[in-house]
Amino acid sequence: MQQPLKLYNTLSRQKELFEPINPPYVGMYVCGPTVYSYVHLGNLRTFMTFDLLFRYLTHIGYKVRYVRNITDVGHLVGDGEDGEDKIGKIAKLEKLEPMEIVQRYTNDFHRVTDKFNMLSPSVEPSATGHLIEQIEGIKELIDKGLAYESNGSVYFDISKYNEQDGQYGKLSGRVLDDLLNETRDLDGQTEKRNPLDFALWKRAAPEHLMRWPSPWSVGFPGWHLECTSMSTKYLGRQFDIHGGGMDLKFPHHECEIAQARGINGVEPVRYWLHTNMLTVNGQKMSKSLGNSFLPAELFSGSHELLEQAYSPMTVRFFMLQSHYRSTLDFSNEALKAAQKGYKRLANGLRVIKMLEYKPAEDVAIDTKKKQDIEKSFQAFYDAMNDDLNTAVAIASLFNLLKYVNMIYMNQLAPAAIGEETFDQLKTKFVSFLEDVLALKEEPASDSQAVISGMLNLYREYKEQKQYEKIDQIRQYFKSQGLAIRDMKHQIDWAYEE
Ligand code: AMP
Ligand code: ZN
Repeated sequence: MQQPLKLYNTLSRQKELFEPINPPYVGMYVCGPTVYSYVHLGNLRTFMTFDLLFRYLTHIGYKVRYVRNITDVGHLVGDGEDGEDKIGKIAKLEKLEPMEIVQRYTNDFHRVTDKFNMLSPSVEPSATGHLIEQIEGIKELIDKGLAYESNGSVYFDISKYNEQDGQYGKLSGRVLDDLLNETRDLDGQTEKRNPLDFALWKRAAPEHLMRWPSPWSVGFPGWHLECTSMSTKYLGRQFDIHGGGMDLKFPHHECEIAQARGINGVEPVRYWLHTNMLTVNGQKMSKSLGNSFLPAELFSGSHELLEQAYSPMTVRFFMLQSHYRSTLDFSNEALKAAQKGYKRLANGLRVIKMLEYKPAEDVAIDTKKKQDIEKSFQAFYDAMNDDLNTAVAIASLFNLLKYVNMIYMNQLAPAAIGEETFDQLKTKFVSFLEDVLALKEEPASDSQAVISGMLNLYREYKEQKQYEKIDQIRQYFKSQGLAIRDMKHQIDWAYEE
């Protein structure tokens, strides 16, 4: 196991050595999408970050149970405590069952995560599938005096919780008095004893579509409760990692801590991880701000902000080039640069699989190069261990790529780095890219057979010095996003960089 991995913990506000509660098992919970619309690129940045962490933890030897939920009830329009359910609202507008909306956007979410080469979580539970657990949790909180019923709704009692040293606000750094000032004048809080109390169960207004029976009323669960119920059910009362976007720190995750401590009596999460936002012209990408675009629009280039189409792997590479705790601003320039960078790596991936070791007694070991390659392996791990510093990890991959290309171009004999280092170069370069960063080759639309046939024609025309035909074949490769590499020792194709 490549230790020590350090992760930035939002709760302690520092990087900490990652030590799972029960190694080699790791429990990781990530708040999933609210399935009332297509996921936008901002949402995907967050999910991609946790896909990366899931992959890296697995790569270094942990056995990860990765739970990512589907929020299909309770998340209200405006993220507040009153009003319409996000899913219910769309269902009404479209005159469909709420579950038809849920299914449509869950399917889309899966299609998109597949496109970006994200792994499926180990468990993908939904909020509506865990109403019994949520109702049981509320009963427990009422029994412990940490929640109260009011007019058929149930609220979490922040004052009682804090009397028991709950420290509500400790994750997000919010101060109770400031919070009180912010919320004092808001409407709809007459049912609450304290304006900061948050809903665990809400009585459904007559027009509210999504409703279930409970001991208190026919209603629906509050948004924060589902994650507490599902994380406890699948990962236990205490688990290793809980993640989400930064905007979930407050109130969602703050409330989760309060609920879980209230119900289970222990601090639920060892490491809280939060990703920073994808922005457009410095503003958070968000559906409500109207500055978001969808993966499908990126792939086709059909959005006014996009100067061209970008492939899923280009976008993934673009995201990986920045650290997950920094904001990342969308720009065509950055994406075009990412396209070049990704294609260079993809070409490395393609050629390294074809390279073979050739013993050569007359070739001396080039110690400097051999050591530089070995250092780059370690540099990759060091960067990933430093709170997933992908930007630095990628730099070490480019250093390895330099050697891959030298071997491919016949400028460096495999024997000059020795068989062991050569084998490691092959396995590590592929595994860092494909298993950890999940950057894979994006095959051209035409099949491999057509491409090699065209390449054979190119060779023939070249021998016959038919330059016009050669140009036509070059044009064909270009139309496929490919290029011909006409080298002294061989003729090959590559992704056009
Ligand atoms: P939602 O479906 O709105 O609950 O969001 C799903 C996830 O995407 C949450 O973890 C959010 O924090 C995250 N998210 C929303 N907007 C952005 C953004 N612009 N950049 C990064 N993550 C985001
Ligand atoms: Zn959640």
